Amino acid sequence: MTRFGPSGNSKSFYEAGLKHTFEAPAWLKVLGLNAFEYSFGRGVKMSDETASKIGTAMQENGIELSVHAPYYINLANPDDQKAQNSFGYVLQTLEKLKVLGGTRCVIHSGTVTGAERKDALLRIYKRMEELLNIIEQKNLSSSFILCPETMGKYSQIGTVEEICALCTLHPMLIPCLDFGHINSYMQGNLKTKDDFKRIMDIVFGVLGEKKAPYIHIHFSKIKYGASGEIHHLNFTDEEASFYGPDFEPLAQVLYEYKMSPVIICESTDNMAEDSLEMKQIYEKLF
Ligand SMILES: [Zn+2]
Repeated sequence: MTRFGPSGNSKSFYEAGLKHTFEAPAWLKVLGLNAFEYSFGRGVKMSDETASKIGTAMQENGIELSVHAPYYINLANPDDQKAQNSFGYVLQTLEKLKVLGGTRCVIHSGTVTGAERKDALLRIYKRMEELLNIIEQKNLSSSFILCPETMGKYSQIGTVEEICALCTLHPMLIPCLDFGHINSYMQGNLKTKDDFKRIMDIVFGVLGEKKAPYIHIHFSKIKYGASGEIHHLNFTDEEASFYGPDFEPLAQVLYEYKMSPVIICESTDNMAEDSLEMKQIYEKLF
């Protein structure tokens, strides 16, 4: 089953007089959505009490909950202590995800700082193995899916090839393909159905039928410049159709390849509305 939902709460959610994320699941269900991503981008600060309240509401309304790990996680950091700290943030996120009752955790792998891209990549692979060992020791690997994300800035590790290769390390790793990021990286060249097919063929080629159909997807239109991603837009922004990407050709590929991804919309302000628009585009194909 392909799922659609927003990352965080839309402006209209607050305008409807709602305040708390535990009120989001019922609101999303009425709209016809069935996924939600909670961002711990600035840290895991949620109490267990709030987490279980949100988790229960998600479950009651049939919404699959995923989380985004803190943005400051950097497995490429040359400083070993800082890398150890990153392991701690991932574990913290998984512990909270457990209380929330979800399975998927999106993570940014790391940034190239001074060192060559190849060195940063090697460090990430090595550190990811260490992190997976710790997760195994804590018996957490079978309960969760860790989703390393494709990134939109050239200074970040996260091309489709890099992320798919990383995901061969362990059964719990499944990629998060962020198509706005991929398009920024490609300077707007993600346009046709064949462009999207080429991306998906890499995923199927490297990860096979066991993982590829179930990838996590982030979709939003993103403004880009010479060094890649600048900022997220929403579907009604004037610049949105210029920068893209379009959802329609991706929807066709998802349908043709019989995939069942979780598709999270990261638009500004209108994430739930844009999510619904994507769901409608997708359902027209049946
Ligand atoms: Zn992300």
